[in-house]
Amino acid sequence: MKPIIIIGAGMAAYTLARELRRLDKVIPLTIITADDGGYYSKPMLSNAFAQKKVAAQLITQSATQMAEQLQATVLPGVQVNNIDSTAKILDTSAGPFEYDKLVLAVGAQPIRLHIDGDASDTVLSVNHIIDYATFRTKLLPEHRASARVTILGAGLIGCEFADDLAAHGHAITLIDPNALPLAALAAPALSQGLQKALTSRGINLHLGTTATRIDHAGEALQVTLANGETITTDVVLTAVGLRPDLRLATAAQLKTDRGILVDDHGCTSAADIYALGDCAEYRLDNQGRTSPLPYIAPIMSAARAIAKTLTGENTQIELKDAPVIVKTPSYPLALVPPPRHAIEGGRWETEQDGEKTICRFFNAENIMVGFGVAPQEAKARQALLAALGTKAD
Ligand SMILES: Cc1cc2nc3c(=O)[nH]c(=O)nc-3n(C[C@H](O)[C@H](O)[C@H](O)COP(=O)(O)OP(=O)(O)OC[C@H]3O[C@@H](n4cnc5c(N)ncnc54)[C@H](O)[C@@H]3O)c2cc1C
Repeated sequence: MKPIIIIGAGMAAYTLARELRRLDKVIPLTIITADDGGYYSKPMLSNAFAQKKVAAQLITQSATQMAEQLQATVLPGVQVNNIDSTAKILDTSAGPFEYDKLVLAVGAQPIRLHIDGDASDTVLSVNHIIDYATFRTKLLPEHRASARVTILGAGLIGCEFADDLAAHGHAITLIDPNALPLAALAAPALSQGLQKALTSRGINLHLGTTATRIDHAGEALQVTLANGETITTDVVLTAVGLRPDLRLATAAQLKTDRGILVDDHGCTSAADIYALGDCAEYRLDNQGRTSPLPYIAPIMSAARAIAKTLTGENTQIELKDAPVIVKTPSYPLALVPPPRHAIEGGRWETEQDGEKTICRFFNAENIMVGFGVAPQEAKARQALLAALGTKAD
């Protein structure tokens, strides 16, 4: 019997594998991954510094342990180069593999900005445990107890790293073209609150500008901004977003847009090939709207449904609204950003409840379709979640 093959060993791949094993103890399962196959929780990467964690401490299970736990063949260090969707064969660095059903859980790649300068190739990004290990080594070579770190991008990941590194004693500069941090996700009132909290933490924010050059300056680096200012730094980290990894899907002529397009069951445009996680672009509604959803909650929903479908019970993915918890201890936030299509004609309304700032987003039809709250806690999150979809008074 040919196996179900999952490509990838991130949270999407291993969550699906666990769901599959809950439903079927014997179905042959193979996990092929280019990395070492160790299991770690990726969200921990942006708050591991303050906890003084090295990369090895974040890996809770090795590939061998995962193989044993999942009763699966796990093949680490194997790159999948091509998919023959007609013959149902993968071409990999370890030779060909036949599959019965295939799941792409290949994640996303960090977006690289075009920046001039003789040190632009030193810019780091952290989207994997190996990147975290490299970043830690660059930040804290033996002679240094703290570093100057410049972060490009004050979105979710940039703000989380900034807060975490500042708490660990590093000197942080955060640069973003928007006028406020988290501008794409949060209400202005919450972005302002975050800006204040990060500034109080000692983080140096340069908003409304971009980095145009990065050059060597002795042992340090010099970042030049579009507004003419310069910053001397030891390390530059880019956190300007991720792009779904479409390389295998495109070569196999699967339908793609921003991500690999999947239907309500997580199936791609090719029979017996599924996708989930950061590489996938999910159907949001019956009006044909689709979007990548690069968070953990959609992975859980997609994994549950795809596992059922793969074991014979055709099941639709139920994407539920789940707040994104922004891991900035200086200003803990929870957000359900309004969907892109709802922004035009919509508005934020802000309520101050003691220490708490609550922002609700109403679309053009006066229906609440997003929110943000800080400081966040479970009761407030639950109440706001329950109010989603209701009409303003
Ligand atoms: C720093 C950080 C903090 C985050 N915090 C949060 C948070 O607080 N809450 C939240 O909801 N989300 C958070 N996210 C997002 C969340 O972690 C991701 O959505 C999720 O981990 C993506 O998992 P994935 O398995 O789809 O992708 P990945 O983890 O990227 O896994 C992709 C896998 O595919 C393998 N692969 C790729 N191409 C090939 C190939 N050709 N052959 C073989 N193997 C291949 C890779 O080796 C890897 O194992 C965070 C992300 C980051 C980077």
